[in-house]
Amino acid sequence: MADIERESVEYDVVIVGAGPSGLSAAIRLKQLDPDLSVVVLEKGSEVGAHILSGAVLDPAGLDALIPDWKAKGAPVTVPVREDNFYMLGEAGGIRLPNILMPPLMNNHGNYIVSMGNVCRWLAEQAEGLGVEIFPGMACSELVYADDGSVKGVVAGVFGLNADGTPSDGFEPGMELHGKYVFLGEGVRGSLTKEVISKFGLSEGKEPQKFGLGMKEIWEIDPAKHREGTVTHTMGWPLGNNAGGGSFVYHLDNNQVYVGFVVHLNYENPHLYPYMEFQRFKHHPMIAELLKGGKRVAYGARAISEGGYQSMPNPVAPGVAILGCGVGLVNVPRIKGNHNAMLSGIAAAEAAHSAIKAGRSSDRLEDYATALTDGPIGKDLKRVRNVKPLWSKFGLLGGLSFGGLDMWVANLTGLNLFGTMRHGKTDAAATGKAKDFAPIDYPKPDGVLSFDRLTNVSFSMTNHEESQPAHLRLADASVPISINLPEYAEPAQRYCPAGVYEVVEEAGKDARFVINFQNCVHCKTCDIKDPSQNITWVTPQGGDGPNYPNM
Ligand SMILES: Cc1cc2nc3c(=O)[nH]c(=O)nc-3n(C[C@H](O)[C@H](O)[C@H](O)COP(=O)(O)OP(=O)(O)OC[C@H]3O[C@@H](n4cnc5c(N)ncnc54)[C@H](O)[C@@H]3O)c2cc1C
Repeated sequence: MADIERESVEYDVVIVGAGPSGLSAAIRLKQLDPDLSVVVLEKGSEVGAHILSGAVLDPAGLDALIPDWKAKGAPVTVPVREDNFYMLGEAGGIRLPNILMPPLMNNHGNYIVSMGNVCRWLAEQAEGLGVEIFPGMACSELVYADDGSVKGVVAGVFGLNADGTPSDGFEPGMELHGKYVFLGEGVRGSLTKEVISKFGLSEGKEPQKFGLGMKEIWEIDPAKHREGTVTHTMGWPLGNNAGGGSFVYHLDNNQVYVGFVVHLNYENPHLYPYMEFQRFKHHPMIAELLKGGKRVAYGARAISEGGYQSMPNPVAPGVAILGCGVGLVNVPRIKGNHNAMLSGIAAAEAAHSAIKAGRSSDRLEDYATALTDGPIGKDLKRVRNVKPLWSKFGLLGGLSFGGLDMWVANLTGLNLFGTMRHGKTDAAATGKAKDFAPIDYPKPDGVLSFDRLTNVSFSMTNHEESQPAHLRLADASVPISINLPEYAEPAQRYCPAGVYEVVEEAGKDARFVINFQNCVHCKTCDIKDPSQNITWVTPQGGDGPNYPNM
């Protein structure tokens, strides 16, 4: 659509994504200089609609951004009161004593929050400072200057026909130009992916690694609700089939977040992450908690797991990548929100100094240095071997060696294993179907466990059907000619929203169907497709899930 004429608007800083990283950057810029013009563009129908996190929040980011957040009424009101860690077998579990856990795993001082609500509140704070925030505006393209630097984004394209041609209601959107563009798209952002590739920002780094996180909100029997309780489990049902585990967080109002993460470097292409999650809820410990309750929301999102050694260079001319676009999750703590916020603050401080010095459209090197040498780098560096140790030695070996490495790092500041490599991408880790046994999953009972499409309706996802599919195949023949015979087309199973189907009818050739309307924007297909044939691009603004208090 290069020949389309668009209006353009100039800002000091253009921010893509109203997640914790983007909103923190916007707030810090205005705190530093109220005269800076700052805009935040969000593809969700409202701020928070696409936010999915656990979430136990380490308030380090919030403390740095808005020290009087309590007085200002932040929706951060449920302190963690109890921390449990279980190794599960099919019928029972062993509670690991908290004393064995490295101190960084302790949740004392943290809060159970809805990150969606925290982002809604951050957006109010930002608007109060004069930041312009436009929800329902998907950023679909980057705009480059003649010298190759990133100069802005295209946002707000609506009304394309399924074949990509303009319909009668076509709106071309507009160009938003900035002295600097911040990409706060979160994990596997579509514009972020383009910038990393175009500027070679991951050269010399380990591949980024990911997990798939699925989450339900349950309202449970008040007699069983223990506000402030945090429980993590490992072991059953995944065993050694894949890395991952669960989280169960008791927030307020008798609600519980029940979530499950499956590391996407699993080999067996028959594995069905969504069904592992559903099966998990039948464990006696979880079933007892949920019995008599009801599931009120469902969603899914990829989570970055590569850590310190996978962080791309976060800057290129005119652009800086924030938060989980860089992959700032501390894997053993399953926490990235504090680092996302700290990264937004650091990028804002670098851009403010640069603009004050009369600079624009260059590399914000101070931001890159702040990420690796500041509190974020420190947080991620000491846990950098946990993920590769788990990948190499499986659950028990990974847990033992990873725990030891974290303890030694905690006591001496050194890691026993140096810096371990991840090696393969998650897509390349996928094995051939013939080398693995299919897994027999029990049928959901409709009480504790649900079929995928029923659950997707609880994400309130919605996409205008007449637009082009936002899940693009580089080669339309690959799913049936390569992925089906070689990998039993795993897209049918790894997608937590049932977007992909192989339809096999008697007497007809098998067909690959993409039900893009179901997509919850988790990005797993873009990550895990073994042929790397699927690209997730943003659909038009306002589409996608409409999460309540995820
Ligand atoms: C299941 C799960 C559990 C987790 N648990 C925890 C936890 O307990 N504690 C913790 O601290 N962290 C947790 N995390 C990690 C945490 O969610 C991330 O670190 C954090 O969300 C990263 O923030 P971000 O601002 O980088 O991106 P995001 O939070 O992903 O926000 C990105 C925003 O940008 C928008 N966007 C993306 N692309 C575009 C575009 N092209 N145009 C316009 N808008 C766009 C999105 O709609 C979204 O609103 C968890 C993650 C998952 C998946």
